[in-house]
Amino acid sequence: MPYLDDLNPAQRAAVLALDGPVLMLAGAGTGKTKALTSRIVHLLATGKARPNEILAVTFTNKAAREMKERVARMLGQSVEGMPWMGTFHSISVKILRRHAELAGLKSNFTILDTDDQLRLLKQLIVAAGIDEKRWPARMLAGVIDSWKNRAWTPAKVPSSEASAYNNRGTELYEQYQERLRTLNACDFGDLLLHVVTLFQAHPDILAQYQRWLRYILVDEYQDTNVAQYLWLRLLAQGHRNICCVGDDDQSIYGWRGAEVGNILRFEKDFPGAEVVRLEQNYRSTEHILAAASGVIAANAGRLGKTLWTEAQGGEKVRLIGHWDGEEEARWIGDEIEALQRGTRGGQPVGLNDQAILVRASHQMRAFEDRFLTIGLPYRVIGGPRFYERLEIRDAMAYFRLAVSPDDDLAFERVVNTPKRGLGDKAQQDIQRTARVSGMSLLEGARELLAAGGIGGKGAGQLRAFVAGVDRWHAKTLQQGHSHIELAEQILEESGYTAMWQADKTPEAPGRLENLKELVKALEQFENLQGFLEHVALIMENETEDAVEKVSIMTLHAAKGLEFPAVFLPGWEDGLFPSQRSMDESGLKGLEEERRLAYVGITRAEHLCTISFAANRRVYGQWQSQLPSRFIDELPVAHVDVLTPPGLYGGAYGAAAPGGFGGGSRIEDRATKADVYNSPGWRRLQERSSQRPVSQPRESRSPVIDLAAVSSFTEGDRVFHQKFGYGSVAAIEGDKLDIAFDKAGVKKIVARFVVAAHE
Ligand code: ATP
Ligand code: MG
Repeated sequence: MPYLDDLNPAQRAAVLALDGPVLMLAGAGTGKTKALTSRIVHLLATGKARPNEILAVTFTNKAAREMKERVARMLGQSVEGMPWMGTFHSISVKILRRHAELAGLKSNFTILDTDDQLRLLKQLIVAAGIDEKRWPARMLAGVIDSWKNRAWTPAKVPSSEASAYNNRGTELYEQYQERLRTLNACDFGDLLLHVVTLFQAHPDILAQYQRWLRYILVDEYQDTNVAQYLWLRLLAQGHRNICCVGDDDQSIYGWRGAEVGNILRFEKDFPGAEVVRLEQNYRSTEHILAAASGVIAANAGRLGKTLWTEAQGGEKVRLIGHWDGEEEARWIGDEIEALQRGTRGGQPVGLNDQAILVRASHQMRAFEDRFLTIGLPYRVIGGPRFYERLEIRDAMAYFRLAVSPDDDLAFERVVNTPKRGLGDKAQQDIQRTARVSGMSLLEGARELLAAGGIGGKGAGQLRAFVAGVDRWHAKTLQQGHSHIELAEQILEESGYTAMWQADKTPEAPGRLENLKELVKALEQFENLQGFLEHVALIMENETEDAVEKVSIMTLHAAKGLEFPAVFLPGWEDGLFPSQRSMDESGLKGLEEERRLAYVGITRAEHLCTISFAANRRVYGQWQSQLPSRFIDELPVAHVDVLTPPGLYGGAYGAAAPGGFGGGSRIEDRATKADVYNSPGWRRLQERSSQRPVSQPRESRSPVIDLAAVSSFTEGDRVFHQKFGYGSVAAIEGDKLDIAFDKAGVKKIVARFVVAAHE
């Protein structure tokens, strides 16, 4: 078996132990995912299991797809369907669609996105007479989410939580769940919660799945939350053939309810589990591994492991300070190009092999701007997603209506987009009619029209809209219809495309492009429903294409991935570790940040570059930054400190003596003090004095800190004196791109708008 020859003895043992529980607990890059994949191959190759008897849970859809491809390659034949390979969410959807009625839903239920969820919560909050400004919907959403992560239905929320959301949390949670049922909808957390509840209430159904899914494999086990854990345990208790792999040092989703304790509980739940430890790292060079190990060693309460690599030597981890975030982006852009051309010595490194991993997504903007300027192709993974753009969401609402005409949230979103002469009153009348007769908004509209309850121009247009939805829905039911043609027809007949064609704002052409792109995306799916499901579930922008691109993503999104060259910018106190983790009284948050640093460094194979800036513009305000405390934890023997660029006179980027891309090696030491004392850093500080900046974060009170941060985030509703209501579409320093309901998109300075109370 060639796939077994590629493994070391410990990995092979984990692959061969097919029956019974196995826990593989090992550090980054030790081949856990590789062993897991080989196990699947072994199950199939030995005929122990058919593809549909293997449940394999990965962290992202992308990881699932890659695993499938790898299995096929290792088997040397294409695998016909591995229906149960995916994320917890995608597998749950499959199960839930089959038994929707037992969860009080229909099988064509809709999966809500965050926007829909917030809109719904807002309605409930307002109806409950609560001041949404003091008690924002986002807060309630967070509370409900955390309960769902613990698998608590409204009835199961313990009384200790009674004070949540100003004592109204439990009550609103219950109402929210009821609303979702009437809407025939689920939010993300529900997907798991419903399945767990269903399994608990219907042992016969659970038994069926336990019979079918004979082998269970789970990657990134350290990041499972309680609901996921219960889900797994229920399914695994049939055959007990469960293999989980993970690394406690890479647990980075505590803030989303993940519990490292699940790893420790494994041996209790599955007595006699075989525990496999892997110690050889195959990914990174010695210096990179040592730097990562040095940082993580500062965490208390680790299970602790030894890691070693045969890849001795190589380049040390590089550390460099910059004047500000823009300069950091410029330097990294130049470095990436130099690596790509191979002009900094060594083999050229393609763009696909380079990645920038940031702590906070607002850091991405500086890189995107710079790369657009110099024409460096990049992809943002898990960033502001294509599917979150206004026009895409509108179009999708139309598609949702076509698939399920009783999708009220979709109806609300588009009934008057484009404008159909339906004022607030008409829309309220539709709502009331629907509520009184307990039917969907579409039916409500139909009834209202029949009763002559809508006057003026609106009546004719609403009638056309209702007829349109009927027509589109009928088409979705036709065998063999082309869903692509249908999508085009919907956008055409609804007047939605025409609306943007008539729009004179500079954004309109881009929006029309995006709509075309959307129709193109449909080609990969069998029908609209499949497509809508996909979009609801994707956790990242996964479009792969032929052009080589450098990847930009958050550290969280980088889990499990590897790149020959990795850039880790923004290592500054307050950014990384985050201000919140530093303000916390305990060390929990800080330790999670440190694990994130460990994840970041261990993504690198050959070259790892850590950087920080002396000044950074955060939400429009300049702030002085201090280098991250994690920099102090880097073992000096494995780090090179580079001189900040642009200090040698002449044009930026001119090669400095003995260096590459503008940086040069000055000392083989890496503590913060060394950085401060280096001539380059002092020069940097001198330059700092030329521009007034606020005090470093540490010496400022948290009150000022809060005030410095603009209170708007993307998607917020705002009000402007002249342009009226709108939503924040993008934030750029202190300027906001606002999509006004009536006036189109405009760039406005943040202090000229206020949060809307609609
Ligand atoms: P992470 O904790 O980051 O998810 P991991 O433990 O899952 O890491 P893998 O991604 O499976 O590690 O493997 C890391 C790299 O090492 C991959 O490029 C993989 O192909 C390689 N590798 C794993 N095992 C071996 C082996 N026995 N021989 C050679 N290369 C290996
Ligand atoms: Mg892995």
